[in-house]
Amino acid sequence: MISITDLHKQFAQLKVLRGISLDVAKGKVVVIIGPSGSGKTTLLRCLNALEIPTSGSVQIGDVRLDFSKKVERSSLPILRKQTGMVFQSYNLFPHMTALENVMEGPVTVKKISKEKAREKASSLLVKVGLGDKLDHYPAQLSGGQQQRVGIARALAMDPQVMLFDEPTSALDPELVGEVLKVMKELAQEGMTMVVVTHEMGFARDVADEVIFMDQGVIVEHGTPQQLFTQPREERTRQFLQHLK
Ligand code: ATP
Repeated sequence: MISITDLHKQFAQLKVLRGISLDVAKGKVVVIIGPSGSGKTTLLRCLNALEIPTSGSVQIGDVRLDFSKKVERSSLPILRKQTGMVFQSYNLFPHMTALENVMEGPVTVKKISKEKAREKASSLLVKVGLGDKLDHYPAQLSGGQQQRVGIARALAMDPQVMLFDEPTSALDPELVGEVLKVMKELAQEGMTMVVVTHEMGFARDVADEVIFMDQGVIVEHGTPQQLFTQPREERTRQFLQHLK
């Protein structure tokens, strides 16, 4: 479903991604861990063309862009449409209700009728446990509820894969569980997911594969069991030790 080949990203002189290759099969959940500044967010942003890689290729579903050649700007939205992204800061429109936030993409980008979009948005909000909050504005919702609206909003675009960039990092500890629960349910339904998170419990429970990144490369990857209990690389060991 996702195939990344020798991906590089450089900001001026700073080489942030230095040859990332990764395949994620349909329905699999990959969790990316690693120290601050290792390039995790940049990798996710390259997957949906929020950042334009310096070289290498990204394939999601049947859309493949080779950034080593000249990529037409018009092809970027085609890649972006394959993905739904959930950010650390929920980025909801403050002047729109939960329902309107979730309807916005389908109506303006997909040109779906308002009636159909409303129906779909409301069933997605029920799915994330917010059936009683459809008409609430973001300011009337807790952080965990806002993030669940963010997940529903991403799902409303029918993405092939979901990308999560530290979705619970901004939340009070007591609100983290409700967001992770929704993510776990999505994984169980067979959604292909790439998740950057510091929630090692989630990684252990839900990930099919855990990737440890450092300094723009994948240092090690394996099953949660293998990576957490028998890391092969010293750098992985040190990072995990640090978390304890
Ligand atoms: P964190 O866990 O702190 O979010 P990260 O592993 O997600 O870190 P990135 O956010 O991908 O790391 O950043 C990797 C490096 O790239 C950092 O040194 C960052 O300052 C740099 N960087 C990211 N975006 C830009 C940008 N738009 N322009 C210049 N440098 C950038």
